[in-house]
Amino acid sequence: MSESNNLIVTIERAASILQEGGLVALPTETVYGLGANALDPIAVARIFAAKERPFFDPLIVHVPDIDWMPRIVSEFPRVAVQLAERFWPGPLTLVLPKVPAIPDLVTSGLPNVGVRIPDHELTRQVLRLANVPVAAPSANPFGRLSPTTAEHVYQQLGLRVDAILDGGPCRVGIESTILQIDKHGVTLLRPGGISLEEIEALIGTVNLPESTVSKTPIAPGMLASHYAPRTPLKIVNEIPSSVESSRTGLLVLCNDTELQQFAKIELLSPTGSLVTAAANFFQALHRLDAAGLDEIIAVRFPDRGLGRALNDRLQRAEHRGVHQSK
Ligand code: AMP
Ligand code: MG
Repeated sequence: MSESNNLIVTIERAASILQEGGLVALPTETVYGLGANALDPIAVARIFAAKERPFFDPLIVHVPDIDWMPRIVSEFPRVAVQLAERFWPGPLTLVLPKVPAIPDLVTSGLPNVGVRIPDHELTRQVLRLANVPVAAPSANPFGRLSPTTAEHVYQQLGLRVDAILDGGPCRVGIESTILQIDKHGVTLLRPGGISLEEIEALIGTVNLPESTVSKTPIAPGMLASHYAPRTPLKIVNEIPSSVESSRTGLLVLCNDTELQQFAKIELLSPTGSLVTAAANFFQALHRLDAAGLDEIIAVRFPDRGLGRALNDRLQRAEHRGVHQSK
């Protein structure tokens, strides 16, 4: 008798936990995923907190059927229809322009979202019952082995998940193939469970960016195309009492003092919650970037929990700010 039994739930219970913003480990044909309602930014932030990942990376959104596509993506071109009809349900992720309802935390601020229909009947039933799309990375803490049984999930994440749906052992080791579809055509972002040969036999030549043909895989979250503000961004340890330009914006976790030196202020969480801050982070950065500012001042987050991922993201935004002119 395994200890993980305490967390094992029925598909009905798994669906209602997802609807309530909880975390449910779900079986797929690749590995167990750590799922949350993809439309609820706080639930999505809890995924990153549970994984203790020191950075954010875009999450794949899982849906049960192809008629859900308009809820996730704003375009579904013919070539996507062809690929979906042939390979879904299955280990193929399509990256397409997202609808506004998909929070930026799901896509790490990118305008596109990765979506797929997993080939696992129990999980598809949960998705249908919950009636929400589910964002899910693998259900393991950062740097640990991907789980292929419910027991692995329990051993690695324990009570950091609200529930586990036991679908037995996964067919091991095949991550989904990721294809981006845009004006450049179809581009392979990650090789995986569906071979390039099978894909090209159906739709013709697929673009291979240098990074995917090179031996070094793109580290998750390190994609060059990640959103960075066009406005220069500077990281500081505390809120400065004076600033150079009257067109300066502030990004900060929380604050209870008078701040007249800033043209625009984004407070991420009134209570200082890093989970809430992560849920609001990308949207806040977008709003600051759209405000026509000369500079964004961002106050470093506490170096714990999701603060580490937020600081990582800030550091990359700062780098871009220095090299890109407005
Ligand atoms: P995993 O959850 O381990 O299968 O990894 C998901 C990976 O999918 C991420 O690390 C990205 O490389 C990729 N991905 C997901 N969504 C997107 C997106 N919107 N644009 C580009 N790549 C994506
Ligand atoms: Mg993973």
